[in-house]
Amino acid sequence: MRGSSGRVVRARYRFVDWTLKAMPDMPVRYVGTCLCCGERSAGTDNPDDAQLWCLKHAGATGDTGYELSTHSCFDAAPSAASGAPAR
Ligand SMILES: [Zn+2]
Repeated sequence: MRGSSGRVVRARYRFVDWTLKAMPDMPVRYVGTCLCCGERSAGTDNPDDAQLWCLKHAGATGDTGYELSTHSCFDAAPSAASGAPAR
């Protein structure tokens, strides 16, 4: 198993092995969220842009709590080792 940086994740549920693979045409997206008012930045492929939104929001509102979220899209498929046909 590799973590999010390896882009392949495996898990075993209900006796079937599944593999997650990052969707090649769906880049990782970053979103800044204000924990005080719930406002969110637009999704961006640059974490610096999401953090800059947080700083601008802090300057404009005085809100002080923020979350930077990372969003990745994956395809799930049965692993070839489980005996299920690979896609
Ligand atoms: Zn806010």
